[in-house]
Amino acid sequence: MIGLIVLLFIIGLLSFFRAGLGLVSTAVIVWLLALSFYAGINLYLWAVLLLVLLTLNVPALRRKIISAPVYQIMRRALPEMSQTEREALEAGDTWWDAELFSGQPDWKVLLDMPAAELSAEEQAFIDGPVEQLCAMLNDWDITHNRRDLPPEIWDFIKQNKFCGMIIPKQYGGLEFSHYAHSQVVMKIASRSSTTAVTVMVPNSLGPAKLLLSYGTAKQKQHYLPKLATGEEMPCFALTGPKAGSDAGAMPDNGVVCRDAHDTLGIRLNWEKRYITLGPVATVLGLAFKLYDPEHLLGYKENIGITVALIPVNTPGISIGRRHFPLDSAFQNGPNWGKDVFIPLDWVIGGADQVGKGWKMLMQSLTTGRSISLPALSVAGGKYVCRNSGAYARIRKQFNVAISEFEGIEEPLARMAGETYLMNAAREVTLAALDHGRQPAVISAIIKYELTERMRAVVNDAMDIQGGSGICLGPKNFIGRLYQVIPVCITVEGANILTRTMMIFGQGAVRCHPFIQQEMAALHNSDDTQGLEQFDALFLKHIGAVLHNFAAGFWLSLTNARFYSAPGDHQTVRYFRQIARLSVGFALLADYALLTLGGALKRRERLSGRFADVLSNLYLCSTVLKYYQDQGARPEDLPLLNWACQHTIYRAQQALLAIFWKLPFRPVVWLLRALLFPLGKPYAPPGDPLIHDTAATLTVDSAIRERLTQGIYINSNADDPTGRIELAFKAVLAAAPVERKIRRAQKQKLLLKGNVYEQLDAALLQTIITREEAELLEQAEKARMQAISVDDFAPEELTGVTDASSAEK
Ligand SMILES: Cc1cc2nc3c(=O)[nH]c(=O)nc-3n(C[C@H](O)[C@H](O)[C@H](O)COP(=O)(O)OP(=O)(O)OC[C@H]3O[C@@H](n4cnc5c(N)ncnc54)[C@H](O)[C@@H]3O)c2cc1C
Repeated sequence: MIGLIVLLFIIGLLSFFRAGLGLVSTAVIVWLLALSFYAGINLYLWAVLLLVLLTLNVPALRRKIISAPVYQIMRRALPEMSQTEREALEAGDTWWDAELFSGQPDWKVLLDMPAAELSAEEQAFIDGPVEQLCAMLNDWDITHNRRDLPPEIWDFIKQNKFCGMIIPKQYGGLEFSHYAHSQVVMKIASRSSTTAVTVMVPNSLGPAKLLLSYGTAKQKQHYLPKLATGEEMPCFALTGPKAGSDAGAMPDNGVVCRDAHDTLGIRLNWEKRYITLGPVATVLGLAFKLYDPEHLLGYKENIGITVALIPVNTPGISIGRRHFPLDSAFQNGPNWGKDVFIPLDWVIGGADQVGKGWKMLMQSLTTGRSISLPALSVAGGKYVCRNSGAYARIRKQFNVAISEFEGIEEPLARMAGETYLMNAAREVTLAALDHGRQPAVISAIIKYELTERMRAVVNDAMDIQGGSGICLGPKNFIGRLYQVIPVCITVEGANILTRTMMIFGQGAVRCHPFIQQEMAALHNSDDTQGLEQFDALFLKHIGAVLHNFAAGFWLSLTNARFYSAPGDHQTVRYFRQIARLSVGFALLADYALLTLGGALKRRERLSGRFADVLSNLYLCSTVLKYYQDQGARPEDLPLLNWACQHTIYRAQQALLAIFWKLPFRPVVWLLRALLFPLGKPYAPPGDPLIHDTAATLTVDSAIRERLTQGIYINSNADDPTGRIELAFKAVLAAAPVERKIRRAQKQKLLLKGNVYEQLDAALLQTIITREEAELLEQAEKARMQAISVDDFAPEELTGVTDASSAEK
């Protein structure tokens, strides 16, 4: 028994240091010799072990006895994969997600990535036209009175090329970086989500993006300059009544044919819905399935998903009706096509790109999903941090500011901590994009995580606002934001599907160090070559699993105390915790893939939990990187600590929940004992940290300014957020005076109760000066302004005037 433990220890130690097969084999022989020396020669043991070592070390034998049967079994077990699934899986590339998946993250990959930056020109655009646009926007007027943007806003957007942020200058666009694009959307979204969506869509997945990557020179020359100036307004139509999340199942079709003038083209029929900008679009990007029954293009009949650009005035198109998405006023609606004939060169990329539409879309989504909705989400977080954080300081109940209640500190801390981490994830991911990465799994992670976290912080803010968040009207600064949340959750890959299918589903193939190559070997039509490739990969794969096994146990036993991590004394523990959880994640992912194989595709609860681990480790990594990029400022520590402890705890809980769903219970118990030998090591943020984190929102500080940087801020007394800014400043300025009166009340110099009711008495007794009394009076006035809500005459809401009701 002791001998066996020594052998396992030796193998574990060598695997930990990534020793090769040769060294491990030599060590086993040395162990056998030592055992024979102390316990006598056991011929049976020698024979078995030598046979095993021989099989492993002689490639021809190993292939015949081990790799070939495994190869055949895995070939049969490979899940069926449709063309659309394969193309979705293969889109984009990997980055830090692959490091986390390996269980051995190389921190340089993350930390050496330069931080995202704006050029002087981009900064000038944000300080100029974007600031100007925000000042012009009146969200209540847009969403309630007009249910559209006013004409002058449409003009301003077009004239200033807001629709051409991704279009290169050679075509008349702004050619902004991904970071600048995100900053612009974020700032506008902090003013009006309707306007943000309107600006977002032409710059997101749609005609311009597809043309840039796949268009012919002629198409680019024709459309891009007009799209940049808004002369052409684009929309992109993929979704229909029968094809939502499963967009590849669209029944919309095109048949290759010739028209009366013998022009080669496509006859299209479709029904699309939910199409943003559709009702005002001049050009429609349309996805459909193309068929060629007469073989006019070649031998294939079922050509596949294809994308074309079609002017909306083409005969047969019905477009213009509107949906009404939760009181938002951005243009969105259905459209239909009946026997619409288009020439073949309207296909994006021309005849060369027919049937490649799905691949084009998936490729474009890899970057798009990291930009628009994350920008909107961070805008939401920053906006409520600034305004509802201030509101908590302004609003008083039981004679104190509600921010002083422990119950309110909890949502305030969540709002601040989540917003810090959302922004970190946004900025770090954009930096990767601006340095040429197209990480598909990360884009799914940040689309899902940031929209969900935004939903949570806006809900928290709604609780803090109480009735003032509920009663809609020009003064309500949060109601419309709250209403628009489901739009963010649903579009660009609905969240449930993104979490339970895409993140781990795609990650397991793309980010895993071996699976994609192993799958390629299994698909190799040349059996001998396939087996050879598989054998080499399989050996490395087993080596990596053994390493993760040993490293997982060591890091768990020591809580990674001896792991050489980057960071300073504040952050090193978090780097270590990520390393520990990442190795556990890698080990369990391999176990799940080995035991469940293709069945994992349908085990969405399990896949969702794996996604949660990976996502939280990714978010925590970005927080550490962002903190470093920001100069590791001590005042950021509450936010850093909250964000790291929160994500690490969530990753741990998700990892623990995975154990419940894995097969072969005894092995699972062993794995659990290996990865959590001393119980659960991590806890969520504790009470003192919650207090400090909440305080970042309720004092006028540099950290509050930096946390909410990049959104639109104003001090206009008639503005829904301007009056909050003014009241916050006034209340803080009056706080020392208020404290004086309180002290006097405690000393029984003044009567108890509302401090404002004691103002005259305090003046009379010279407890405060006249100037101080004025400060208090101004604060009270501003407070009343800030907490006031709208009311309406009944007919204003029903739209029925006295005259019209009299007629009835
Ligand atoms: C305001 C708005 C704007 C839009 N703009 C556009 C646009 O410009 N162009 C365009 O083409 N489309 C657009 N869409 C469509 C959008 O992309 C779809 O709404 C989205 O893909 C979801 O489709 P669905 O609404 O039909 O929901 P469904 O597909 O019916 O999904 C319903 C629910 O089931 C879940 N679900 C589905 N399949 C699975 C699964 N396998 N596992 C787990 N959960 C699953 C989803 O996550 C979702 O929660 C827009 C939608 C809205 C609401």
